[in-house]
Amino acid sequence: MSLILLEPTDDLLAVIADRLVGEGADFSANIVIFPEHRPGHYLRRHLARQVGRSLIPPQIFTLDDFVNQLYFELKGGRDHYLNDLDAVAWLFEIHQRAASPLGGANFQTLDRFLPWGLKLLAELETLKKAAVPPEKIREFDQLIDLNLSPYSQEHFYSLSYIYEEFYQLLEARQASTLGRRLEEVRSHFPLERLGRQGRIVVAGFFSLLELERQIIQQLLQLENCDLVLIKGKGLSELGEKLGFSQEEVSAWEEVSPAATKIEFYLSPDSHGQIFALNRVLQEKFDREGKSRPSEKQVIVLPAVETLFPLYQFTLARWSEKDFNISLGYPLSRTPLYSFFDKLFELLQNVDEADRFYIPDYLRFVLHPYIKNIFFPQTERTDLTRIMFHTLEEEFLQQKNRPFWRLEEIESDPEVRQRLLARFRDLPEVREPLVCLEHLKHIHDQTIRTFLEINSIGDFAQKIISLIEFIYQASTAAQHLFFHRYAEAMVSRLEDLAASQLAPLRFDTRSGYFNLFRNLIAETRVPFPGTPLRGLQVLGFWETRCLRFDEVYFLDLNEDVLPGTSRIDFLIPFPLRQQLNLPTYEDIEKRTEYYFRVLLNGARRACLFFVENSEKEKSRLVEKLIWERQEKEKIPEASSLLASVRYQVELKPREPRVIPKTQEVVEFLRRHHYSASSLDLYLKCPVRFYYAYVLNLQEKEEIAEAMERKEIGTLVHEILEEYFQPYLQQPLRREGLLDFKRLEKVVEQVFQSTFGRSLSGSALLMYHQVNRHLKDFILHYQLPLLDKLPNQAAPVILSLEKTLELKQAVDGHEFRLVARVDRLEKRGENFYVLDYKTSANESYYRINFKKLSFSERSTWAEAIGSLQLPLYVLLTAQLHRLPLERVEGRLLFLGKNRITPDIEYSALAEDKEERLAQLELMGRIINELLLEIINPALPFAEEVELPVHGGARGEGPPSASSAGNEKSASQSLPNSRPPSTGGLKTRRVRLAAKDACRFCPFTDLCGR
Ligand code: SF4
Repeated sequence: MSLILLEPTDDLLAVIADRLVGEGADFSANIVIFPEHRPGHYLRRHLARQVGRSLIPPQIFTLDDFVNQLYFELKGGRDHYLNDLDAVAWLFEIHQRAASPLGGANFQTLDRFLPWGLKLLAELETLKKAAVPPEKIREFDQLIDLNLSPYSQEHFYSLSYIYEEFYQLLEARQASTLGRRLEEVRSHFPLERLGRQGRIVVAGFFSLLELERQIIQQLLQLENCDLVLIKGKGLSELGEKLGFSQEEVSAWEEVSPAATKIEFYLSPDSHGQIFALNRVLQEKFDREGKSRPSEKQVIVLPAVETLFPLYQFTLARWSEKDFNISLGYPLSRTPLYSFFDKLFELLQNVDEADRFYIPDYLRFVLHPYIKNIFFPQTERTDLTRIMFHTLEEEFLQQKNRPFWRLEEIESDPEVRQRLLARFRDLPEVREPLVCLEHLKHIHDQTIRTFLEINSIGDFAQKIISLIEFIYQASTAAQHLFFHRYAEAMVSRLEDLAASQLAPLRFDTRSGYFNLFRNLIAETRVPFPGTPLRGLQVLGFWETRCLRFDEVYFLDLNEDVLPGTSRIDFLIPFPLRQQLNLPTYEDIEKRTEYYFRVLLNGARRACLFFVENSEKEKSRLVEKLIWERQEKEKIPEASSLLASVRYQVELKPREPRVIPKTQEVVEFLRRHHYSASSLDLYLKCPVRFYYAYVLNLQEKEEIAEAMERKEIGTLVHEILEEYFQPYLQQPLRREGLLDFKRLEKVVEQVFQSTFGRSLSGSALLMYHQVNRHLKDFILHYQLPLLDKLPNQAAPVILSLEKTLELKQAVDGHEFRLVARVDRLEKRGENFYVLDYKTSANESYYRINFKKLSFSERSTWAEAIGSLQLPLYVLLTAQLHRLPLERVEGRLLFLGKNRITPDIEYSALAEDKEERLAQLELMGRIINELLLEIINPALPFAEEVELPVHGGARGEGPPSASSAGNEKSASQSLPNSRPPSTGGLKTRRVRLAAKDACRFCPFTDLCGR
């Protein structure tokens, strides 16, 4: 054996190539063993370049592949390799027949056992590879921390039992795992045959488990074997394990000082790193006059989640040939996984009658893979989107039905009518009925197929078929990396379908869905990246044994590298040490070794990391900074760091000003004005324009709509129905206390809204409303009755009545509308009552102290809502009642405690003051109406107005003085366009100062 020690700057592949013996271009007699697949590709290319023509390459293996090859030679295919899924099936079998199953009842079902079983398998294999005999494990059994609850620990049975049972079962069933193969190959090592090979090169290793070490050590006995190692910190440990003396190995860590230029880049977040990387690359290209990267450059991605921002913002600017990605990406982070997750969530929330929850249904059908299915007989996907959005509109209309069967969706008359009406209007669609068939076809291929699952194998096949369906029928295949995701998922599911788990069944559908999630959580999408051209984008471990001139290392944060993932899952740290199992310390040493080798081998290394309240730089970076500080005597570490900072433009956009066209003015003249529309105008004229002129509405999310379920509408309906029999007669205690009737009314209203069987949030809401309305009768209605003398007992005059009034203002006629929940008479006075299911009266308050009629900018700030005064004014006018006899009250039913105090009025108690306030509010309403139709006044937050008569409106604002102020129409422009020529103007704010805070139109408005 010869030992060759290299510096990180040496060319490992050139050294290996020089050792190989070849007959012409035939190197097949040689064997090369690396810790990683990737250096093999580079070695083949190196040899091809050296030979200058096609060649027969050496046999290149990873250590695992080498062992598999020798095992195959030994056994001649008499046993089979047990994959992880079959292994878990066998472990589950052992687990089930154990007298005291591990974890008690916790892992008794396969879906629960699976993730745990996969980890258990990994631990058993590590024990096997570390050559730990069962007797040794038995000694430690009682000390092994299973990380389970005390209850579960009671049910613990020894790890040695599983260990022995599992490997005996392997023998009995003629199967093997890698651990078992290592053991066998170690015992029957074909030393003689290997001695007759050309050269055997073992290169680039840092650490070995016991059985691996024994195999390598047997190889090292051979004359024709070379051990090629790269010097670095921690390597001497391997030397000692391989039988070298301490003196010999002491030199293995003495690395010549590196000439690498190391730069540190600190960013406030992940995107900042990409931004910094782009800048560094651009500066380099500019300096060198290049526009494309080279194979001498590597971007290292220890955190795979950075791959997509990197792809989007860095790699996408080059052609696919200019870079190569090689790493494993978790399948559970891909859109394909989230597609199935949504489907299974939909299926999991189905009720006993196989009715689907509509928000889940919409989330699924509006997933890009479904909504972009090609419409039959066309190449178009927009028609499928139109179909599902039309369905969504219908569900919003019928939001009282949160659960639907698929057959109901396909055949509901209103759904059909709406779909057919929409598709009749589309000239591209020759036969509108096709859309109904299309909908059913999509249901059949996706959701319906999972309603009946016969076994795990059947389940896996169904998922594969669905992947094929979306691949063929939708634009999914055009999505970035879809093929890779699909291949990885299909391959894992094919393993499942072919595994010994396949015939097993679960009692519930959820079992299959949990199995899917647990299985996929462990699966990675390989980006194998064999092309060696162009910039290399590699995971950290993929860089082993490779040398690059320039290293761009992202995500160098403590939680990523060395990382905090626990490896002592079953066996705690001290026992791992005693059993010679790898500990987290060993992993940290290995990480640091390969990190240093990569950096020391480069000419330039740019290290990027994030520092913020949650993230800190990796200790690997800390050490490098410290070493540099020490070497160069730099007191402040910060001077070594280049920081990425963003320049955020916080300048607000110009406020939006929307002029009124003649058409708009006409529309505004014809409009019916309610309290809500006037309130909205008062809050912000621009918002009024969007909502009422353009008729834009915030897209109502169906889940929200159902959850809120317009409790208000339900409560209004119930109270209308409940008080109906008492109309036009004094309210009596006995009648009000008829709770049976109240319950019946509540039930009827809920059932007519949600269907006969209430479930989920509807049922919860039903109980809440029932309880709350009883409280309303007991703690508001009855005390009010008690308070009033008999002859003044309330008489309900009308319920849910719509009032309409034509109002003439300054020669213009306006239509005002209001829906009054309840009008009642208490003695001589009339009360306009409005139910609110909220609890907060501040939105309805009017601050008369801050309100000045002549100072327009005070209106939006001082008036919470015009509703109460408008309702009182309309009621008085329509019923020809003297204003002083009409009161307005809001009833806040949403308050936690119901008392007579839930009645609220924004107006004063004092009659005189109230009348003055009402008069003021009447004038403000009139002025607002005139303002709205004024063609000269645009919809805007602020406007420039002429100052007429100078000082008007400067006096102290008060309700009592309001009646003495002149009409605001003298100072505000009304239907007469203001002429500003030669006049002084002033800027007046019309909108409330905080109007934009919860406005749904901020994007549109650019605020
Ligand atoms: S974003 Fe502000 S200015 Fe624009 S409409 Fe909404 S409230 Fe008005």
